[in-house]
Amino acid sequence: MKQGRYANIIIDISHEKVDRPFQYKIPEALRGRLEVGMCVQAPFGAGNHLRQGYVVEITDRAQFPDEKQKQVRAIVTENVPVEADAVRLAAWMKETYGSTMIAALKTVLPIKQAMKPREKKKITRLVSLEETRFAYEECKRKGQGAKARVLGELLKEPVLPYELVAGKLNVSPASLKSLEGQGIIAIERESFYRNPVKLDAPLEAGRSLSPEQKAVCDGILSDFHKGERKTYLIRGITGSGKTEVYLSLIGGMIERGKQCIVLIPEIALTYQTLLRFYKRFGDRVSVINSSLSAGERFDQCERAKRGEIDVIIGPRSALFVPFPNLGMIVIDEEHEPSYKSESMPRYHARETARYLADLKNACLVLGSATPSMEAYYRAKKGIYQLFTLDRRLTGGSLAPVSIVDLRAELKAGNRSIFSRKLQGLIEDRLNKKEQAMLFLNRRGYAGFVSCRSCGYVMKCPHCDVSLSQHLGGRMACHYCGHETRQPEKCPSCGSPYLLGFKAGTQQIEQQLYKRFPGIRVLRMDGDTTRTKDSYEKILTAFAQGEADVLVGTQMIVKGHDFPNVTLVGALAADLSLNDSNYRSGERTFQLLVQASGRAGRGRKPGEALIQTYRPDHYSIVRAAEQNYEAFYEEEILYRELGAYPPAGHMMAVMIASPEEKGGEGLAEKIGALARNLEGAGSFTVIGPARASIGKINDIYRFVIYCKAFHYRQLTMIKDTIEQYAQSLSLKEESVQFDFDPIDSY
Ligand code: ADP
Ligand code: ZN
Ligand code: ZN
Repeated sequence: MKQGRYANIIIDISHEKVDRPFQYKIPEALRGRLEVGMCVQAPFGAGNHLRQGYVVEITDRAQFPDEKQKQVRAIVTENVPVEADAVRLAAWMKETYGSTMIAALKTVLPIKQAMKPREKKKITRLVSLEETRFAYEECKRKGQGAKARVLGELLKEPVLPYELVAGKLNVSPASLKSLEGQGIIAIERESFYRNPVKLDAPLEAGRSLSPEQKAVCDGILSDFHKGERKTYLIRGITGSGKTEVYLSLIGGMIERGKQCIVLIPEIALTYQTLLRFYKRFGDRVSVINSSLSAGERFDQCERAKRGEIDVIIGPRSALFVPFPNLGMIVIDEEHEPSYKSESMPRYHARETARYLADLKNACLVLGSATPSMEAYYRAKKGIYQLFTLDRRLTGGSLAPVSIVDLRAELKAGNRSIFSRKLQGLIEDRLNKKEQAMLFLNRRGYAGFVSCRSCGYVMKCPHCDVSLSQHLGGRMACHYCGHETRQPEKCPSCGSPYLLGFKAGTQQIEQQLYKRFPGIRVLRMDGDTTRTKDSYEKILTAFAQGEADVLVGTQMIVKGHDFPNVTLVGALAADLSLNDSNYRSGERTFQLLVQASGRAGRGRKPGEALIQTYRPDHYSIVRAAEQNYEAFYEEEILYRELGAYPPAGHMMAVMIASPEEKGGEGLAEKIGALARNLEGAGSFTVIGPARASIGKINDIYRFVIYCKAFHYRQLTMIKDTIEQYAQSLSLKEESVQFDFDPIDSY
């Protein structure tokens, strides 16, 4: 409870602009009783009509002379709207992660925007299954990929939502018209359409759970029944039935009149996954993703508020869908870095979900094959309850993984990106008409371009990074988008010998064509997935056998199941180990385990190959063994030794400025301020230093790291720095915070 004489209040949150709080005086009778997030009554406008509003800040700083201030009238205690929880959540995020209240409110509240009613369209199969299969084969033979994709889906479902077909399957209206013309499908229209993806597929009952799955569900639901609201961590290899457990838990929650939020990383939010939810819960499910407009997003929130849906699925922002009766939050693939926001407030969905669950008296279920160090650490300490699922329910076991030492390859005279073993295996899969996936933890054609004579490296003129070489003689900056042609001669010494280094996905694709004439390759990376739904389109094409090999960055390690993939190769497994970041070992392990898990998902047995220059590194050895527990034990030792999260906590303070000297000066002052506090508690301050990328878009960047055992100590330092920065009324410079950072600065 915060003492203070004034309350900043936002009136009618859903209709006014949220960035305009109004200040009111707190009358004697209410002083000390108001809290951020409370719903209050206050006189508003010229007529002083009583309106409801939300307290967003309590302060002693008056915005107007006292006699001009209106007074808060009363605290609303009955029928408090769900928005009050959102305001509380925003206040918590501001406090925990550092940001302004306005930025926090904008994160948690959906923006109201006019939305025109949409037509609802669906695609219905008009012919028999047999005829559909015939048409499907025909289209495949003629190379009509788009039509084949629709027909392929229609073999499984008689009716498909238009949005899914046009969007996720990326089928053009012309292709659909053509199928309609052939009398194979009908495109039907209904007038109003609120749910972005609705499926008329018949509902399916749940499967009967395996004893292990049942133990998890019973455990969680009986706790819930007893009024216990815990956090659970389900560690289960891919295919061990975690999703089935979520579905069953959601069913249990709906029976109890509760609603659920299911977070799935955007990249894993595929058609197949959504379908499973729709088949189980039909109309009661909806989805939020980045392709929804603000209007559609708002609509989803309204539907949730009105109780029209029980389940929302989406990436981290789905947390903010305002359910009145939230019972459970599920976070699948809990270890994914995408659960951390990259802009202020830099919140982590896992922690935010826990706070929200407390607010709403809900439980939290985390799932992963390779839990984050944070989650497993807490599970070991008994803060989370751990369940383990280690059997694949569809039969089949994990693919064996072998390691190839690239240093030995070089010694044997093999300079290619592909080890001899990998070449042999690709050859073999081509012969057997099976598929392979090649994974490279890096995008673009090559790394930097440098001069072979003098060593000069081509750099972005606006950022402190080297330019990446792309095909066609282009060089591009991945930070600001700056593009330029590769020069003929070295700008420094005039030598014509310029060379691109390090293999990228594009180069691998080229090498494949060269080495295996006639091979069909699909590539997936930042470049090929720029347009909406291109990601799903590539995956679908690959699933339908339109290529022999899929080459890609980490995007390819999740998503569809590909039953025909029997080989997975990680081309340079240690690339991600070279980041100077305390999480790089964890990230490498997770990526490699996930990548290897893609092999042998069907009936045919698969295998995985990890190529590396560091075959003895524990992240690589443990990933090849698929031994999570052993990896965790080694990694946690390292974290404890360095007091890195989760053993301790860390805060990065980023200072940015268009003036190098000004930024440096400010960083020095903030560093000194934090150091002065140092005596007050047991924490350390490191820096300031130039950020590892010292300039982006002509803005200079400096960073200070603070480490402490208790999180609270870090928020205290943050508060002090925030106050200091406010007192300076900074215009050009900015100060930002990142707690337990995932990125390096
Ligand atoms: P995960 O989410 O852990 O990867 P899924 O829930 O997707 O696992 O299950 C993997 C496969 O096993 C799916 O094809 C699913 O339909 C199947 N499956 C899951 N639970 C059962 C069960 N109890 N009985 C039979 N098959 C199951
Ligand atoms: Zn040179
Ligand atoms: Zn740049």
